[in-house]
This record gives sequence, structure tokens and C-alpha cells, in this order.
Amino acid sequence: MSLSRREFLKSSAAASAAAAIGMNVPAELEASALKAESNWRWDKAACRFCGTGCGIMMATSGEGVDRKIVAVKGDPAAPVNRGLNCIKGYFNAKIMYGADRLKQPLLRVDKDGKFNKHGKFAPVSWKRAFDEMEVHAKKALKHGGPESVAVFASGQYTVMEGYAAQKMMKGGFRSNAIDPNARHCMASAVVGFYQTFGIDEPSGCYDDIELTDTVVSWGSNMAEMHPILWSRVTDRKLSDPDRVKVVSIQTYTHRTSDLADIEIIFTPNTDTALWNYIAREIVYENPEAIEWEFIRKHIIFAAGPVNLGYGLRNSNDKSIKEGKYTDLEMQTISKEMSKVVSAEEGPALEPFGYKEGDTMVNNGGTLGHWEISFEEYKRSLEPYTLSYTAKLCKGDPDEPMKDFKKKLRALAKLYIEKGRKVVSFWTMGMNQHTRGTWDNTLAYNVHFLLNKQAKPGSGAFSLTGQPSACGTAREVGTFTHRLPADMMVNNSKHRAIVEEKWKVPAGTLNGVGTQDIMQIHRDIEDGLVKFAWVNVCNPYQDSASATHWIKAAREMDNFIVTSDGYPGISAKVSDLILPSAMIYEKWGAYGNAERRTQHWRQQVIPVGDAMSDTWQWMEFAKRFSVDDLWGAYAPSGPRKTMLADVRAEARDMGYSGDTTMFDILFNNKDARSYKLDQDDPIQRGYDNSEGYGDARNVVGSDGKVFKGYGFHVHKYLFEEYAAFGRGHGHDLAPFDVYHKVRGLKWPVVDGKETQWRFNAKYDPYAAAQTMKSGNPFAFYGTIAKALQSGTLEGKDNDSKKMPLTNKAKIFARPYMDAPEIPDKEYDTWLSTGRVLEHWHSGTMTMRVPELYRAVPEALCYIHPQYAKEKGLKQGELCWVESRRGKVKARVETRGRNRPARGLVFVPWFDENVFINKVCLDATCPMSKQTDFKKCAVKVYSA
Ligand code: SF4
Repeated sequence: MSLSRREFLKSSAAASAAAAIGMNVPAELEASALKAESNWRWDKAACRFCGTGCGIMMATSGEGVDRKIVAVKGDPAAPVNRGLNCIKGYFNAKIMYGADRLKQPLLRVDKDGKFNKHGKFAPVSWKRAFDEMEVHAKKALKHGGPESVAVFASGQYTVMEGYAAQKMMKGGFRSNAIDPNARHCMASAVVGFYQTFGIDEPSGCYDDIELTDTVVSWGSNMAEMHPILWSRVTDRKLSDPDRVKVVSIQTYTHRTSDLADIEIIFTPNTDTALWNYIAREIVYENPEAIEWEFIRKHIIFAAGPVNLGYGLRNSNDKSIKEGKYTDLEMQTISKEMSKVVSAEEGPALEPFGYKEGDTMVNNGGTLGHWEISFEEYKRSLEPYTLSYTAKLCKGDPDEPMKDFKKKLRALAKLYIEKGRKVVSFWTMGMNQHTRGTWDNTLAYNVHFLLNKQAKPGSGAFSLTGQPSACGTAREVGTFTHRLPADMMVNNSKHRAIVEEKWKVPAGTLNGVGTQDIMQIHRDIEDGLVKFAWVNVCNPYQDSASATHWIKAAREMDNFIVTSDGYPGISAKVSDLILPSAMIYEKWGAYGNAERRTQHWRQQVIPVGDAMSDTWQWMEFAKRFSVDDLWGAYAPSGPRKTMLADVRAEARDMGYSGDTTMFDILFNNKDARSYKLDQDDPIQRGYDNSEGYGDARNVVGSDGKVFKGYGFHVHKYLFEEYAAFGRGHGHDLAPFDVYHKVRGLKWPVVDGKETQWRFNAKYDPYAAAQTMKSGNPFAFYGTIAKALQSGTLEGKDNDSKKMPLTNKAKIFARPYMDAPEIPDKEYDTWLSTGRVLEHWHSGTMTMRVPELYRAVPEALCYIHPQYAKEKGLKQGELCWVESRRGKVKARVETRGRNRPARGLVFVPWFDENVFINKVCLDATCPMSKQTDFKKCAVKVYSA
């Protein structure tokens, strides 16, 4: 058989893929494949996309700049996916080779080549790019101090990139105005973890899927968003179809429902009532099901204020006062200040001291809470009778009430059944919610009451959306309020630990961390933030009320920089675009939803002049000295006190006024001890563009060819970061170990990963806590572990704070309305989300021809009868219009997503159907996570 080179490669890739899924391959094809593969280098890596965290095998071929990725397959040795990938996973290579890949920095200039905010993009050198960034960042610092320099960060940063960015921002610039897009993804889960467990950690792991009898998917289309996990759920279901039950609890029917024994379609926002209904069924109707021994030993009951508002803009905000919001927009925003308790909310809020018709004056988000008695908790559940809950929650107007009630009863029964293991999974449906934190805590309530948490096969488990939301955003601490390993910027002891480790003067770190990602947009609109850098995300496409933020970026006096692989909306909105190396063009690590850290090596040299975000941060750090950044700063934005001048202390530490942040934070003695070594089996034969430079001879930020830093930057950054968590419940294995295994679930203690947190049988930290007591569990997180007491109505200010060592919390949280619900004018719910084929804003997957052809545009999924009522026809264009704007989308009445009458679903991957212009920027006031799942729109023919 004679094969062309192309056929040769194709047959080899096909043979590899077939072998990976256990297919028999003809001998002739196998022989050709082996020949073609003879000069291929296979190596393991992690998938670029979702929080599932599948392992992949990647083959490269060629030398130097010509080395390219020639094949990708699922990694049979990866415990997460066992050789399988979803459709996106198989295209991990193609995302890097799109025709419009960014290869050079691009700056907006006038005809003389000078920077001009209204100019056109023109290619510039790295030196020129950093010159401009330096000028504008210094201007911003002068304008409003560290609070005026901001970063839109990412749950898709590698661990090392996120760590480098946060180190320079918090240790160098002294700015906490860095927050990841992971804020949109699972911030409510994080606050839920803190409130319930005192530590930001999921208890369970994916092994629960094979061990459980029941999978309940709450507001999560796992079949499309976590497809490999769903294939494991499917396997489990089919392995024992009578015993294993699957429940799909959603606001519209989608692929996840296809496997379900029970599908519950609920009205958006009413899932809090559903959880409380199940808890009521336990407490009132089946009290014998309560596991009192577990509760007495491990749980306390708690409540907090309910008048939190909706995380919208406030009447005191500058842009509101300046009239930048229309009267239509203000109809919704006004509820941030006060609202009238509705007939639906009345019964649920009565135990908390409000009744229907009352005006609730909102005081903004607070994490404060206090201990209550079990009797008080029980009182909070009283309203959630079957008839109240069913009336409130039934989401399909065409479903008979009696059928819906039957399903609710069946759901409760599954949870309550003695001996039945239950896993509750959720993602954005519960997290993107103006009561997202509450919703998360309500999930744990039910599992705790039944002692079905932190046990093999049982637990409430928040899945993450992004590949390193758990690893980089959370563990590394790229949030505005966080530091590595669960430490907080507002805790002076934590700041001191970090300052010592980073070798920066005591008092350098800024103790105010409240500029979350929506706040950064708002601060740009209010004129506080003057310099913003977008890293590994697309905030001008992925933020709700998008028109406001784009207008602020383009029309105000500021400087926006975007580092990206492709020119997405954020790049186009920016003043400067930097070409970034993509995932396999650099060494990296991700941490997935089950706490699994996975590393990979640099497989190929980046395209064009693209360089990694880590390199960009290190080069930027060269531009700022001790004298530039470490003087005193007057109060600014959320910071009401001075930030001290620490230059004298810096001198005492051996730094001079012109020592650069590069030398202090990155190019220090510790860093340089991480040697480049081609005899090291981990490094041998692999590029390391930051360490050595590479064959492209990129001209760097000083106008000279970049020849490398001369040490293993990634190993240094990883090990320095990992040192924060070791011995503190966040232990990671050494860098080299991860290159020999398929990831490990942290905490990794004595070389062993941890499967179930808080369970003394599996978690060495829990075991250490329970040595004396012999208790089976220890909820050993330390945050908010001493409380005053009170009732549902409020805290007893005279009560004493009581310690809650090793205890978790069950919270009383009521149902409340969303801030914007359909009315006569805007009569339809809008929900947004993703589709299987595309990742986030589509900047990568829309450039893969196969994925683009599969789903080329975002559709408006609508019930056929509802479409008819609105005069809409299948395949025609319609307007989707809210109080904030409108977009055109194609009507789809027969698709994979099948809403009931009254709701439409429009995905957000498509920049041509820019649905985030329509969405509302309401957030959970506690977690600051945006609620993309619900606002009111009207749909009509375009
Ligand atoms: S996109 Fe998610 S499910 Fe698909 S292969 Fe990648 S990690 Fe696995």
C-alpha cells in the first residue's frame, strides 16, 4: 500500500485514536501507523478546556520551530477519562493553528505611529509594547494609586502564570485589583465552602460516580458541559439500571435529561425552595431519617441577614449619579437599594421577620452569620410544604401540577432512603444565582441531615467550569481577596507570611481586596481604574451588561491591554494587544474540579513572536523599581487608609531604590537555584522558551534577542507557590513527581493523594484531628469557626462567640425572587450557557473548522408553541431584547435544548450573537458571581 504523507499521518492518527478506545485495527494500517509514528514524540498533557480535567496524549513531530503537534488522543492512563475525550478534547492541537493567530504586538496608533486611543492597530515590537504599558501603568498609579491598576485574570491561567501575575500585582504593584473570570464560574461555590466547611475544598472526587446509587444534576447540563464525567455517569447507570437512579433538575430540558429517571423543570431561581422542601420532608415528615449522632458531633445550625440586595450598582456609585444608566435599566437596579416583598416570597421570609408587602431595605452583601438552634432552623423550613413549593417551582406551564408534585416527592424519597448513596452535582445553574452562596449551603444541609456527605459515593459536589478554576484561581489565590493556599489579604498574619516568603518588606501588601471582576469593570466606568490588563480571558464578551464596559473602555481616558492567542472582542476593545503563547507552547499545570493537579511540558515553540503570559509578567516587572512602586499611597477607592512607604525597609533588606521587581520577585537567588538541565529526564529534549529562549530569536522587551532567563522559571514558580500549602491542608507533591504520574488529588501527604476530604478514614488532616475523639469526620477548616448566637431574625449582640472546632454548618436560607423577573413588557426568561462544541467565548473553538461547522452560530432555543405565539418561525431571525439591549439570533424550536413555554436559551460563545449585551450584571452579593441564568426579555420577529 502506498500512502501520501498526508494519508500517512491521517492513518496513523486514526490508528492511534482507534487503539485508544480499544478498537481492533487492520494489520496493514497498524504497520503504516507505526512507520509514520517512528519520529513522533508522544507526551502526556491536560486538556485545555473544561474543569473535568481529562488527560490527553499528544504527538509532536519536526525540529525546532518546525516541530508541530501532529496527533492528539485521550490518555488511557488518565484516571479521569481513561482514554476518552469529548469532541473538543480531540481538537486540542487545532486550537493553536487558526489562520488569524496573533503573532506580534499590536498598538492603536495615529498616522505618525504615536499611540492614539482612536487610532488603528499597527504591529509594534515587544519593546514598544512594554514602553507603552509602562507609561500608562505609571500614569494610572499617579491617578489613583494601586487601585487604578487592574488585571482581568483567569481560571485558565496555568498555575505558574496565575502565581506570577498575582505576585507582581500584590507584591509589586500592591494592588488587589486582580480577579479571575472564575469569579463568574464558581465564586458562589467557594463562599459556600467557606461558610459551610471553613475551607475552600470539595469533599468528594470523581470516584463517587462509580460508587453511588443516585446522581442528581442540579441546574447542570453535565452531558454537554462535563461530557466525560457524564459518560462515567452513563456507564454507572447502565451497569445497574434498576438500582441506579439519575435525576435531572433543570430550568429547561437538555441532553442531561435524556438519561434521567426523573426530570424536574423548575422556574428559574426557585431551586432554593426545592432544597428547602427536601430538608422539610426530612425534618417534618421523616424525622427518623435525621442522623442525630452525626449532627451532634459535627454540625451546628446558623443564619444570616436576608436583606443583601443583588450585587447590582448602588445609587451612590459615580456612574449612576452621572446618569450613565437609563430609566429602563434603573427599574431593575433600584431593587439594589430596596424592594417590596412579593406574594411568592412572603411565606418564605416570614420566619425571618418580613411579610408580603413589606419594604425590605437592603444593606449589601455580608458574610456575617450566627449560630441558631435546631428549632429555629426547623422554623425556617416550615413554609416549604409540597403545595407551596410545587406552586412556586413548577417551571413548565403545560405540566399537570399533580405530576410535578409526584416528582418532588420521589426526589425527596431518593435522598431520604436509608442506605441509598446520593451525589448531587451542580455548576453554573446554582452558582450563577443572586442567592448562589445560599443555594450551595442548602445543598450541604440536605446531605448533612442524612449523613451523606464526604463519604464514598455520597456528597454534594460543585463541579468547576474552567480547567484550573480550582487550581489556579482558588488554590493559587488570583482572586482580589485571596493569597495562596486559602490565605486572605485582609488578614494581617496571612499578609506577613506572604511578605516573608516573597522577600518584600513588612507592610507591602495591601489589606483591602474588594475589586472583584465586576467591580473592575465598574471601576473603569467610574474612572478609578485607568490601566487594565486582560490575561487568558475575554471579559468584554463574557461579562453581563457588556455595552457599559465596552463603552467605558473605548470612550474614557484609560489604557486596556489584552494578551491572547486570537483577536476576540476583548482584544478588539483594547489599546494594545499582546500575542500569547498557547497552552502546549509552554510548561504548565492545571488543577481540576476534584483537586487533581496535572502538569505538562512545553511541546512546541510558540508561533510568530508570541510569548507566554509568565514571560510577559516578568518582562513587565523589569519596568518597575522599588522607588516606582513602594512609596506611600493616599486612600483610594475601597481603601480608606494610607498605604505605607516601605522603601526604608526595602533598603534594610538590601534592595536599592532602583532594584527592579523582576530581580526581587522573579530573578532572585531562590529562583536561580532551579537549574536548567538537559541531563534531567524531566527536562531532556524539551524546549523551555523562558529558560533558554528559543530558535525563533524573538527580540524581547529591551530590543535585544531574548536568550532566556537561565533558570527553570516554571519549576521555581510552582515550588514557591506549593510551599505555601504544604503542611496546611493544601499539600502538593514536588514538581518532578507530577511529570511521572497522571495527576494527584491534593492534599498529597506522604506521597498519597486524598480522595475524600474531612473523612478521617481517607483524609490525613481529618485523621490527625480525630485521633483523640475517634470521630469519623473532622470539618477542620478554620474560617468563621467561632460564632455568636441569635435567631432567624438577627444576632444576639450580647452573646459570646463560641468556638466551632471541626464542625460544619447547616444554614437557614429562604427562597427569594430574582431581581428581574418576567412582566407584561419583558415577558420571557432568558438563560445563557455553553454548548458541547464550543469553549467559553469561542475564541479557540470557533477557529477549529470541524467545531465551527458543527455549531456555527448561537441559536435562540424556544418552545415551538411559544414561538408560534410570538409569531416566530423555525430558522428565522428574532430579536432578543432586555432593558439593556437587544441581539438577533436564529429561532430553533427543534434543537437539543428544549425550553418550556416562557423561557429561551441563547448560548454565549458567538460574538455575533452577543447575548451578554442583553444579560443583567446582578451578582450574588456574598460571592460577587454574576447571575447569567436569568433576566427578563421579550422575543419578536427581526
Ligand atoms: S473538554 Fe472537558 S470533558 Fe472534553 S476532553 Fe476536555 S476536559 Fe475532557
